[in-house]
Amino acid sequence: MESYDTIIKNGIIVTEGDTVKGDIGIKKGKIVTISESLQGAEGKIIDASGKYIFPGGIDPHTHMDMPFCGTFSSDDFITGTKAAACGGTTTIVDFAIQPKGKTLKDTVKIWREKSDKKSCIDYGIHIVITDMNDTIMREIPDIIKEGYSSFKLFMTYDGMKVDDDTLMKTLMHVTRSGGLTCVHAENYYVIDYYTKKFLKEGKIEPKYHAISRPELCEGEAVGRAIKLAQICKAPLYIVHNTCEASTSEIARARERGYPVMGETCPQYLFLSNENYEEPGFNGSKYVMSPPLRNRENWPVLWKGLQNNTLQVVSTDHCPFFIKQKEMGLDDFTKIPNGVPGVELRMCLMYNYGVREGRISLQRFVELTSTNAAKIFGMYPQKGTIAVGCDADIVIFDPNKELTITHKNLNENVDYTPYEGFKIKGYPIITLSQGEIVAKYGKFIGKEGAGKFIKRGKPKII
Ligand SMILES: [Zn+2]
Repeated sequence: MESYDTIIKNGIIVTEGDTVKGDIGIKKGKIVTISESLQGAEGKIIDASGKYIFPGGIDPHTHMDMPFCGTFSSDDFITGTKAAACGGTTTIVDFAIQPKGKTLKDTVKIWREKSDKKSCIDYGIHIVITDMNDTIMREIPDIIKEGYSSFKLFMTYDGMKVDDDTLMKTLMHVTRSGGLTCVHAENYYVIDYYTKKFLKEGKIEPKYHAISRPELCEGEAVGRAIKLAQICKAPLYIVHNTCEASTSEIARARERGYPVMGETCPQYLFLSNENYEEPGFNGSKYVMSPPLRNRENWPVLWKGLQNNTLQVVSTDHCPFFIKQKEMGLDDFTKIPNGVPGVELRMCLMYNYGVREGRISLQRFVELTSTNAAKIFGMYPQKGTIAVGCDADIVIFDPNKELTITHKNLNENVDYTPYEGFKIKGYPIITLSQGEIVAKYGKFIGKEGAGKFIKRGKPKII
């Protein structure tokens, strides 16, 4: 008789290419059989009748335990990855930020100390280059071979911002070594001009954070980064697109056949700049960069997700307690930038994407898992359900109804920007490498069981 560690029975298995009813046999953390029926086989049985079986979510944009504005994002690799698991995400890719004067080797060492033996799900690491020089350029090929195959550059933020020459050098060296360059694209000087002007005029409230970063400030930087990538014959990935001004630049580049890809995040699909008008200091909950935009951008972003101008939905999860946000009570530039979201990405995208008819089940799987696995060099180990893949699986109940409230979430922060959202469809069981790590919104896995994922060559899609 066949025997497995775990058998998931009677579920509706959804991958990027197919929807089929069947059973999944798991052994030693891998999917070893998918068949119409594993009747009679031995193993621990999970009955998934009437439930969807999705590939575990991949969130390629998180900031756990990240230093910012003299504090740290409030989720570390323990709490943040527990929350991710409870929300159906089984892999994150976090950003290791190069401290000025340090090598890339030093940088990944710092981040591995934050993540190794702590992360509760598998994780990869991107490297943010803030300080480029000849040594760093020489390090790039080796660090890519060690599994850090993607790099990010900030085109804004004092202390992290790089100039166009660093952008070009990175694009060239990373591409030559088979890696991928990502950018946070906003025009530094536009922001600097407005910020100084507003502070001088006594305009200190959170909403001025958003007003100081207009849509075209993002569009200009995206367009510039794309043109520099063209000059360097390099592929490019634009993180957190928020608006028409940036997606139109990506669309135009892709129409001409350039290897430019991009993501957006739930906050830009479901929240708007109206949130900055909430009473008191509540607007600070939504201080992030780029900021929330007017709601006319929502259909534009959905269209981008539908027609493959954008390939990924990540979260940019970077939570801060209200107390931390209050460092900017008298000056919006001192509010730590970022919002939580790692736990709710899957349910929000299912609810407003699939259930409301904007995307198919296949597109949902692509946007939340498969495409990130491909672009960031983890496919097919991750991002699909097939024989030989890691058994990273979400059992999702399409009929579970709930109202989102931060009290029921595992994220280590005292609010959620999605408070009060009514949802139908929620992950009920999450398996990471074959083990059940979360059940009905509670983490039941082992702390620190997540493995570092050595990522390979990025795929251009
Ligand atoms: Zn980010």
